Amino acid sequence: MKNRVRKVAGTLADYGADAMLVMQPENRFYLSGFTGSSGALLVTKKKAYLITDFRYLEQAREQSPHLEVIKMTDNLADTLAAMPEKTGIRALAFESGYVNYKLYEELGRKLSGIKLVPLEGVIEKLRQVKDDQELAAIARSMSLLDEGFDYICGWIKPGVTERAVELELEMFLRRKGATAAAFPFIIASGPRSSLPHGTASDRLIGPGDVITLDFGVVLDHYNSDMTRTVALGTPPGTIRKIYDIVLEAQQAGLAAVRAGVKASAVDAAARKVIESHGYGEYFGHGTGHGVGLAVHEGPRLSPRDDTVLQEGMVVTVEPGIYLPGTGGVRIEDSVVVERDGCRVLTKSPKNKLIEL
Ligand code: ZN
Ligand code: ZN
Repeated sequence: MKNRVRKVAGTLADYGADAMLVMQPENRFYLSGFTGSSGALLVTKKKAYLITDFRYLEQAREQSPHLEVIKMTDNLADTLAAMPEKTGIRALAFESGYVNYKLYEELGRKLSGIKLVPLEGVIEKLRQVKDDQELAAIARSMSLLDEGFDYICGWIKPGVTERAVELELEMFLRRKGATAAAFPFIIASGPRSSLPHGTASDRLIGPGDVITLDFGVVLDHYNSDMTRTVALGTPPGTIRKIYDIVLEAQQAGLAAVRAGVKASAVDAAARKVIESHGYGEYFGHGTGHGVGLAVHEGPRLSPRDDTVLQEGMVVTVEPGIYLPGTGGVRIEDSVVVERDGCRVLTKSPKNKLIEL
């Protein structure tokens, strides 16, 4: 973590800043290891500080030995204004997508003479490439999902609701060690499966229903994300047909992932397959996203993101086809980008539509 702080300190000059205030929770954790819910990092060219209130002082000293812990007084702006170190700061960078207007206004007022420099995505960019320790944590988080999928496939039966499936799956994953669900699981059955983000409802699952299960957990601070589409008994012919197309698109996307390729090229590889079968207009979202301390982070595997993939990035590949009134299919795996390809972290079966 010391290295991460050093990296940020080393880039300050590029942005015309002498210091940076880091508050966004995942960014703050990434640089500090501090898990408290309140605190700010002040990274200067020479030294870094963790400012937090009385409740977290002991924890902060324990979790962030590489930072000087400063006790927050009334509020952050006053605390910063009272720090003698601030005399060396002429320009202070802040996370423009996170600092709210009230704090911005306070900082401007209390730190008179210091220029505020809005920055966006600097630490997020560093977070995109994971180190070995992070990759190990992510792999553990992902492999829990495989256990969960296997379990829930044996549990789903006619007459259960989507919400019951969600609860059962989450409880299973929590018992297996997950800290939390990464997001409210998407359990969408029958015609509801055409909702790309259809969170679980009270709908009863019955014979012939297709079921989209999109779920993920947090384990050791790292997220996981996987989608499988299954059916209870035999689904309509259209669903079987689009399943095969989505699978072909997903495999084309996976085959396109490797270091040196643009994120948009992976999207194009998957999208081309769906378009060639005439379903282009029914695939309205990007092909994937980065996963790490946040379940959705950069890079975006979308037509608009030309980020060049690098070894150690973790991305999802998740094309889908959604037919309003009929149903939908999505298949999602999370993978580590490698020099010559990718390593798939979610290994649940997908090669043919599972009929429970
Ligand atoms: Zn997902
Ligand atoms: Zn996803």
